[in-house]
Amino acid sequence: MSTEEQKRPAEKKGQAGSAEGSAKDLASEDAGAQLLDVGLCTEHQRPFEAICSQCKTYPDFPPRRLVCPSCVMFGPQHKQHPVIDLQEGLKQLRTELYSQLERGKLKVEYTESVLLDIRQAILTCDQMKNKLVNGINESFTKLIKSIKARKAELLGEIDKYFEAERTKIVANEEVWKQKQKLCQDLLRLNNSTATDAELLQNSRYVFESIGKLNEPIKFQEMKLINSLNDSLIISAAAVKYVEPKEQKEPPEDEDEQKPKDIDINLHELILMLGRYMEISEYKSLQYKA
Ligand SMILES: [Zn+2]
Ligand SMILES: [Zn+2]
Repeated sequence: MSTEEQKRPAEKKGQAGSAEGSAKDLASEDAGAQLLDVGLCTEHQRPFEAICSQCKTYPDFPPRRLVCPSCVMFGPQHKQHPVIDLQEGLKQLRTELYSQLERGKLKVEYTESVLLDIRQAILTCDQMKNKLVNGINESFTKLIKSIKARKAELLGEIDKYFEAERTKIVANEEVWKQKQKLCQDLLRLNNSTATDAELLQNSRYVFESIGKLNEPIKFQEMKLINSLNDSLIISAAAVKYVEPKEQKEPPEDEDEQKPKDIDINLHELILMLGRYMEISEYKSLQYKA
């Protein structure tokens, strides 16, 4: 399987950049042959003289198909592979190119229409992403707003509730401060420092005070908020956020026992957050007053 001599005139096609001094070797080695100068085999440093017709895998096309005589004789890649001469290979290439041309594959319009499709897909991709990103931002803005509103509401509620209880206690404290003052007054009147006349002048005050001091001590009861339910209303279930959509799945009764994901939409989630942290427990507290 050696290269054939080329009887045709030299190819018009210029081989720019592939001279590399091999033309001289070729001429001296094979006098009369009109081999195309397609460069040197990097493996064997001999000019390519044929094309391996066995190694046709197209991703490697065309450089690995070019072989030098040593490639075929010693390998390693093309040992004893069938070869065709360069002119034949050239003919096949031109035939292939012509067929592609005929099929319109080399026209600008062919790749342009595919590129248009690709660019449209890129655009759609970006648009979808932006739409979802905006959706997420909006949803979370709503959620955060809802959570903040609920926080303010809860703090207000708690403040109001405890303030009312506190006011009641403070009122009792005032009553007992007054009773304390009555005690001091009665003690002073009882002391030798007070004259009989003074005591008589204050007789009404004395009896009224004694009456007040002898009022039975009552137990006041306070109902204080002890804790808040800090789990979302559907505590046992994991909350999975979904876009509002119709559910096609038929309900299954068996699922009731085990905790399952509950699909809720943003509106429902916000409603749930509105109820988030409701008062869950009161504590009763008694004090003397
Ligand atoms: Zn070689
Ligand atoms: Zn081969």
